[in-house]
Amino acid sequence: KHNPEGDGQFLEDESTKIFARKVAEHYSARTNQTLEQREASVIIHLKKLNNWIKSVLIQLYTRRGDAVLDLACGKGGDLIKWDKAKVGYYVGIDIAEGSIEDCRTRYNGDADHHQRRKKFSFPARLICGDCYEARLDEVLADDAPFDICSCQFALHYSWSTEARARRALANISALLRPGADGLAFGNSIYWIRFDEEFSEKKFSSSSPFGIKYKFHLEDAVDCPEWIVPFHLFKALAEEYDLELVFVKNSHEFVHEYMKKPEYIELMRRLGALGDGNQDPTTLSPDEWEVAYLYLAFVLRKRGQPDRT
Ligand code: SAM
Repeated sequence: KHNPEGDGQFLEDESTKIFARKVAEHYSARTNQTLEQREASVIIHLKKLNNWIKSVLIQLYTRRGDAVLDLACGKGGDLIKWDKAKVGYYVGIDIAEGSIEDCRTRYNGDADHHQRRKKFSFPARLICGDCYEARLDEVLADDAPFDICSCQFALHYSWSTEARARRALANISALLRPGADGLAFGNSIYWIRFDEEFSEKKFSSSSPFGIKYKFHLEDAVDCPEWIVPFHLFKALAEEYDLELVFVKNSHEFVHEYMKKPEYIELMRRLGALGDGNQDPTTLSPDEWEVAYLYLAFVLRKRGQPDRT
């Protein structure tokens, strides 16, 4: 067994830090879009589907009054979803200074000029930091434990090295309340490319970490990311008393939850409900293909709940 607290063997090398910085700079540089720009995006339907999946997940697993830790919270696009779930406390952390700044502005109520809304009903703490490097149990000692730890569309950034993947899980486990070019492919809106070194070295290497690819998604992402071999992620999470209780990719997710009238209605309200030809959503075939890349999952911390 490795020592997750780091006895020196998992010290980060400089390139890992440089890549984390690159990811941060990429997201920091993305400015807020107007409503019109957003609607004109070539991946607007994919964005709406992803929003729907996040909304349903949050509704499925959040109870009124829950304390929520949102790792890699971005610009706070999910604040409204947490508000609707009537959470009691929210801590959002993101590595991108620009995104956390936008998140603060949104939380304070003066960002969404096109969507004026009342102040959020829960207190929040918004922090700029690297969730996969920092000891969050120390940073958040006064805020823990949390009932929910959410990490949306960002867990793969932790998988650049074993140390970071372990730090991510150690952070989650420590803060959650118990109970609670070688290869390229894509389509018109995305491409994934593995480095040359990947095919030679990584396929034969025994390490499941650091399998880097470049992900490009039109109007959204263009930066290095890492493959997460899911069965190993699940096994690693088990080591931290985090049990996999839910896993579905977006296609399965849609087919399962579009059987329920309230979620069909939610998708209609979010503007992602289609006419039912290829799939139940408004996504183009290329967007629908991208949706297949994403996996929604939930981990539960083992143990007896200490509240009813
Ligand atoms: N969770 C938000 C959402 O669903 O709207 C944002 C998702 S965005 C695709 C990915 C986010 O991960 C970016 O905001 C990025 O800055 C953040 N991120 C990447 N690496 C991170 C790290 N090491 N620590 C904290 N945040 C990180």
